[in-house]
Order: sequence, then C-alpha cells, then structure tokens
Amino acid sequence: MQVCEIINVGTELLLGEILNSNAQFLCRELAAMGISVQRVNTVGDNPQRLREDFTLALSRSDIVILTGGLGPTQDDLTKEVVAEALGLPLEEDAKQMQCIEEFFRVRCQPCVQSNRKQAMVPKGCTVLYNENGTAPGIYIAMDRKIVVLLPGPPRELKHMFNHALAPLLQQCGDGVIVSHHLRTMGIGEGRMAELCGDFLDSTNPTVAPYAKDGEAYLRISAAAACKTQAEDMCACTIKKLQNVLGNYAYSVDKPLEQVVLELLHAQDKTLAIAESCTGGSICKRLTDLPSASRVFGWGFVTYANEAKQNLLNVSRETISRFGAVSAECAQEMAQGALARSGASLALAVTGMASPADDTNKPAGLIFLHATDGTRHKSLKLETGRSDRAYNRNVAAKQALDLVRQLLI
Ligand code: ATP
Ligand code: MG
Repeated sequence: MQVCEIINVGTELLLGEILNSNAQFLCRELAAMGISVQRVNTVGDNPQRLREDFTLALSRSDIVILTGGLGPTQDDLTKEVVAEALGLPLEEDAKQMQCIEEFFRVRCQPCVQSNRKQAMVPKGCTVLYNENGTAPGIYIAMDRKIVVLLPGPPRELKHMFNHALAPLLQQCGDGVIVSHHLRTMGIGEGRMAELCGDFLDSTNPTVAPYAKDGEAYLRISAAAACKTQAEDMCACTIKKLQNVLGNYAYSVDKPLEQVVLELLHAQDKTLAIAESCTGGSICKRLTDLPSASRVFGWGFVTYANEAKQNLLNVSRETISRFGAVSAECAQEMAQGALARSGASLALAVTGMASPADDTNKPAGLIFLHATDGTRHKSLKLETGRSDRAYNRNVAAKQALDLVRQLLI
C-alpha cells in the first residue's frame, strides 16, 4: 500500500485561527481510495522549516501532498520551496496564463505581475487547472515518488481533488478502505472497550473505540481489493460486535434520533415531548429529520414552574415538595404530555443545565422520564459538570435513548 504524508502550510493554522479542514477532507478521501495516510504535519509560512519538513516527508513517503501557500502574495512560498528542493526550474504554463488573464477579464479587474507569477510551474509537472481560483495545483511524478500541491481555500482544494487529482491518484491506490461506526448508548467508552476484548487488537478490519458528545463509538475499518469485499469484512465484524454489545449498540452509522424515529414509525406510534432544561432541543433533533411529522406532533417547552403546572398539569405540591428538578416532576411532566397530546409515548426532561443561586441542586443533575402510560423508564443523570452545552446535549441524547429502550 502506498504511504502518503500531508503537509498543511499556513501560519494561520498554527495560530489556531482556522480549523485544518483540508487535512480532514484529504485523509478521508485518500483512505477511501486505499492510500494510507501515515502523517499529517502543519507548518507555518516559513521557507526554511517548510523545506526541512518537505525533504523529510519525501524521504519516507511515496506520496507527499502539500496544501496552501500557492497564492500570489509574498508569504505564499510552497511552490518555490518545493521546486527548489526537487531541483526543478519554474517555467510559464501558457494555458494557465490564459486562464489567469481570463479570470481577471471577466471580473473587469487588472491582472498584476504577482498574479502572472501563478502561471509559473515546476518543469515537467502536470498542471491541475483551478476552476475556482487563480492558483493552479501541481502534480509531480519523479523518482517513483509523487508530490502534489493544492491551493489552501477548501472550496478550491475539494473541487481540484475530486475533478483533477483523484483520477490521477486512483492509479496508485491498491485497494479501498471502508469504515463504519457502530454507535452505542448507555455504556461508557471504557466498558465498551472491555466488552470488545480481542476485537480491538485485530488488524483487518481494525476496531477502534472512541467517545464523542456523550456517546461511545467503535470505528470498524477494512482494507480490501474492492469495496464489496471491504464492506463484507466490516459487516462480519460488526455482527460479532453487535452480539457482544447487545442493546447498547443502537445503530451502524445512523444518529440516535433517526433510530428512534424509525422505531416509532415501524410500530405505528407517536411521541410527545416535554422539555425544561433542554429548551426544545430534543424536539429540534427530531424535527430536523424528514418525515418527523409521521411520529411527532406535540412538544412542550415548560421552563417556568407555572408552565409545568398549566400546560402539563404538574401538581403544585410536587414542585414545592421535591422541586422542579426531581424525578417526581419529570414523571408528572411525561404523564401530562401524554394526556394532553394523546400520543402513544411521552418523554420528559427536567434538570440543572448550569449552576443556579436559588437552589442547592448541582449543575448536571437531570431527570428523565419516558412512558407509554403503562410502562415507565426513568433516569437520573449527574454529569458533575457546569458546561451548559454539554449537559443539554447529554440530556437530549439520554432522553432519546430512554424512548428507544421503551420501544425495543
Ligand atoms: P490564496 O490564493 O487564497 O492565498 P493559497 O493557496 O495561498 O490561497 P493559503 O494562503 O495558504 O492558500 O490559504 C488561503 C485560505 O484558505 C486561508 O486563509 C484559509 O481560510 C484557507 N485555508 C488554508 N489552509 C487551510 C486548511 N488546511 N484548512 C482549512 N482552510 C484552509
Ligand atoms: Mg495565500
């Protein structure tokens, strides 16, 4: 398998001013083509350090892809540094010069000398013409190595990759890599990894655990000669992992709200939602999906105690005795939502998204309740964190998972 290394050039990346989305895009696309990216390196607009990093990358990798620094300004040096390191003189590409002149002509702008500089390319390279800007990409094949230069702006880079570079690279990839995510709820990353045991040591497919946004995932990646074969290998491992993880594993690749929507639809059921600390975000998650209306019709955002009483019939006594953030209140909210809406199931959330002065209840204390009128599922969360966004996100996910549990 060809080994590839990426060098993202730009001081703004090192200052944390922009996210290195070009690296993510390239890694994903190259993996899908069966090209193994083994290193990603970011370097500022400094010719000496760029030269050092490029020379090292070229000594150990088959393919080196550099992004950024192809513009017309003083700090755009990638092309000059790479050409010099490879001992290739720069020469004018007539077609690129025409493109640049045309670019400015249709915009009624003057084409200055620094723009013309962009038509200079390393001798013997293949020019990747840029349909969205003036900087051409460069493809150099020499001494059994491939060096590629791509423009920094993501829109230009993606278009050039898909239309000009991918067809050239396809010839050097020797297979495909397919990845899927087995998503779980109700189990931490540590316990999930424990249950997976030896699977985590397997090499093809590889199985890697990770945690994100209150969920634990497994990424299963298989390398094979063709997509069908890689898919089959993934499917086989996923099946075994599903056996080990049981109901904790709620989907392959699909988000939780989609799974809940599909379960409701398959069982011809509807859901009503009563939210306090999540402020309507669970309703939003469901209604972000097309055909949510088939299963969802009623949502209540009852932030104030009076709203909980008036809209959901939560008793004044419950609130004064246990507080609005309590298991009792969550249960009455769910029962109230069920009664008011006539839905088959109702879900309620009440909790402390961040610390408050008027209560001794800690931030991250959240109560969830789901019911179909007969059966009940409830959960108390204690995240121990004051981060509002985090607490609301975890509450929304766990709440949707309670509904899933009632449905399976
Ligand atoms: P330009 O002609 O715009 O100068 P360039 O090829 O010289 O293009 P850079 O100057 O390095 O590229 O970057 C231009 C812009 O593209 C940056 O300001 C940034 O917004 C975006 N960009 C550059 N590199 C990346 C990256 N790795 N990930 C995401 N965005 C990037
Ligand atoms: Mg630039």
